[in-house]
Amino acid sequence: MVTASIGFFLICEFVNVDKVHLSPGRENLMIVFVFSFVCFYFAVVINLVMSRLKSVNSHLRTLAEKDELTGLSNRRKVLADAVNIFADSVINRLSCVFAIIDLDHFKKINDTYGHDVGDLVLAQVAEKMRSAIRPQDEIGRYGGEEFIVIMRDINLKQAEAVVENLRKNVEEMHIETEQGIVIPVTISAGLAAITSEVSRYEEILAQADKGLYSAKRNGRNQIYIQN
Ligand code: GH3
Ligand code: MG
Ligand code: MG
Repeated sequence: MVTASIGFFLICEFVNVDKVHLSPGRENLMIVFVFSFVCFYFAVVINLVMSRLKSVNSHLRTLAEKDELTGLSNRRKVLADAVNIFADSVINRLSCVFAIIDLDHFKKINDTYGHDVGDLVLAQVAEKMRSAIRPQDEIGRYGGEEFIVIMRDINLKQAEAVVENLRKNVEEMHIETEQGIVIPVTISAGLAAITSEVSRYEEILAQADKGLYSAKRNGRNQIYIQN
């Protein structure tokens, strides 16, 4: 567009316009032509700027919603999902289950193999869990080595099967350090579902957290359903 504008400018500069005589009809036609060209020019420029802004905006939104290490939704995004899914489930009278998942003895992994290996373990476990949940479920990093899974339109029995599958998948993972040392990893989880007494999503999260505490207390590498 810039080249076209410069070219147009140069043509106007170098053409001897004194010798150009247009009849009044052609003059009007010329005005309409130039006016249309200018309008088209601005429409194209505005369109280019708008599409660039849209792509920058969507990139920024992705950055603001993603956890850098694991690529999952970050705490802010997964809690926003929790609010929406909770409200949707209440309105449509659907069951909904929240799970809080925590890596077992993760501090020991950091202390034994170093923080970088800890990061690698976190990223790989996160990817494994992401691939093992149902497509309609949401998963996000709640913080540190804790994750939230939100399962919509599901009862506790079915949710138990989903999270038990996650647990098994993680237990069977084969994570190796650069020196070829295999790091055993397990997770514990607490589950809670919407009930008629629950009016805020934070209450289900608190219940799930209680369940997680029980799973830890009972020996870890297991899930606990909090009723
Ligand atoms: P438990 O089975 O009771 O959950 O024990 P734990 O060791 O997993 O739990 P604890 O809360 O004692 O330790 C969690 C550790 O997770 C401590 C913290 O340094 C580590 N951690 C938190 N975020 C990250 C991270 O992004 N990367 C790494 N490498 N470590 C992290
Ligand atoms: Mg832990
Ligand atoms: Mg923890």
